[in-house]
Amino acid sequence: MTLLEQFLLPFGIGDSKALSPPSPTGKASKADPKSPSVTPDGTPKKHRTVALQGYSVPWLLKRTRRKTVGMSIGQGMIQVNAPRWVPISDIEYILQEKSKWLLARLAEWHQSEQHRLLPEQQWIHGASLQYLGKPLTLMLTPQLRQTQWDDFRRELQLALCAEASMEQIRDTVHAWLQSQAKTLFARRLKAISEQSGRRYTKFSLSNARGRWGSCTEDGHIRLNWRLIHFGQEVIDYVIAHELAHTHTMDHGRSFWEEVAEILPTFEEGKSVLRKARLDTLPTF
Ligand SMILES: [Zn+2]
Repeated sequence: MTLLEQFLLPFGIGDSKALSPPSPTGKASKADPKSPSVTPDGTPKKHRTVALQGYSVPWLLKRTRRKTVGMSIGQGMIQVNAPRWVPISDIEYILQEKSKWLLARLAEWHQSEQHRLLPEQQWIHGASLQYLGKPLTLMLTPQLRQTQWDDFRRELQLALCAEASMEQIRDTVHAWLQSQAKTLFARRLKAISEQSGRRYTKFSLSNARGRWGSCTEDGHIRLNWRLIHFGQEVIDYVIAHELAHTHTMDHGRSFWEEVAEILPTFEEGKSVLRKARLDTLPTF
């Protein structure tokens, strides 16, 4: 389940607090003067606003055949599904009653929206994944004998049959990303090292959570293979950062001067990485 779907569950279904149809002597026959938008041609939606605890909150009414009033959050507003016999005044009363819950769900919706840089990873044909800062598409290509990368179409063609399990797809992608990381990072590290005249003794990939790179006193640089999801500017920044550690181990002023000398544009990658959320990266 994605974060968003969680907030889209209507609480009218199976909720004991949901309205039930009125008795024959109830308000059913009362005309609803505020909802002339319920048209017979199947466009029964109308945008409205309601004041909840001082906030002007948009809500969308959809008249349905259901027997109870259902509410959910979607597209930054409250979505109400209600039977035709429930007047607007009653719906607004329910919105007031549920205002605390609704405002909390709305706040969560906005927060999750901001953080949806990368949705939960799907391991299926046609799914997409961040590779070097841009999305690639996973393709199951049974006729291939080994994984192939189509740079022009940004397709990762996996030599797997159409019935491959999600685990098989995930493991194949994992192996490919790691091998790409190893080759590309080694090449880039060598180039930046030679260009800047900063030496290292050894390079390997790391898998540490929450640590993008490290450098030992004897110049062994480790780079987290997950950097492969990011653009070149981020990878270059982490490389420059670790190369600077061969000169200074702390993060003092002279350290950052060193980083700037190795990679004058390092701020760009640094700021992308600072804003990145590790929990939105695919898990393997
Ligand atoms: Zn550091």
